[in-house]
Amino acid sequence: MTLGDFDLSIVSDGTYPLDGGAFFGVVPKVMWSRKAAADERNFITAGLNSLLIRTGKQNILVETGIGSKLPEKMAKVYGQPAKLLENLQAAGVAPGEIDIVINTHLHFDHSGWNTMRKGDRVVPTFPKAKYYVQEGEWRHAQEQHLRDAISYISDNYNPLIESGQMQLLRGDQEIVPGISVRVFPGHTMNMQAVVVTSAGKTACYISDLIPTSAHIDLTWVMAFDLSPIDTIDSRKRYYERAIPEKWLTVFTHDDAVPWGYIEKDNAGKITLRPAPAT
Ligand SMILES: [Zn+2]
Repeated sequence: MTLGDFDLSIVSDGTYPLDGGAFFGVVPKVMWSRKAAADERNFITAGLNSLLIRTGKQNILVETGIGSKLPEKMAKVYGQPAKLLENLQAAGVAPGEIDIVINTHLHFDHSGWNTMRKGDRVVPTFPKAKYYVQEGEWRHAQEQHLRDAISYISDNYNPLIESGQMQLLRGDQEIVPGISVRVFPGHTMNMQAVVVTSAGKTACYISDLIPTSAHIDLTWVMAFDLSPIDTIDSRKRYYERAIPEKWLTVFTHDDAVPWGYIEKDNAGKITLRPAPAT
């Protein structure tokens, strides 16, 4: 898709199963099952959508999927599709041509391909890239809190911090002209969205603040979220700009509708107008 002078592509790391109950939090199954089909174990299929932005000067990759280093136990639960590099290649970009990687947060299903194993070493998958994440997110990951330590795999980021290849941001910031990050607390307290603007058009990789097109209702919040109240407030704040300014919203975990335009109908209901595929 073209966005002003930029080119946007969805590159997927594959799909993985997520528990439907955890995915939709307090929403009753009779309601969410109309929007997402669950299998006999109550799992639904979630996508792993990264966003490739070609500005003409730089190649920027937002998010790096599950990757290829999952511990055996986790690979059994989630599988390990590891499709990102082949899909990147299909889009015409080699790992060595990625200039910037932005992680919205450091959960294992968002930062997996930051690094890969080479023999007994862990090396950056994108050797030339500068990586960015919020400092608060990294600090929380280091904490290894009982609530969510399972979601953080330190090999995805600590080697990059030690080598200086990953930079820690404090709050909203422009990364390169037209591409900036904005913090939206809720899923984690320092999750950042990536806002892309070119020639008057805007797209936003909103990440786990609105993980799929089935989560656009303000109150349909995942059970994973550390602060559901903040998720609702952050979504409200996002819609205040994204709806009137007709931003293209990118859904990180939607395997069928990777992006679309969020709208409000005459009755005030939030709806989605899907955008054409890549
Ligand atoms: Zn997450």
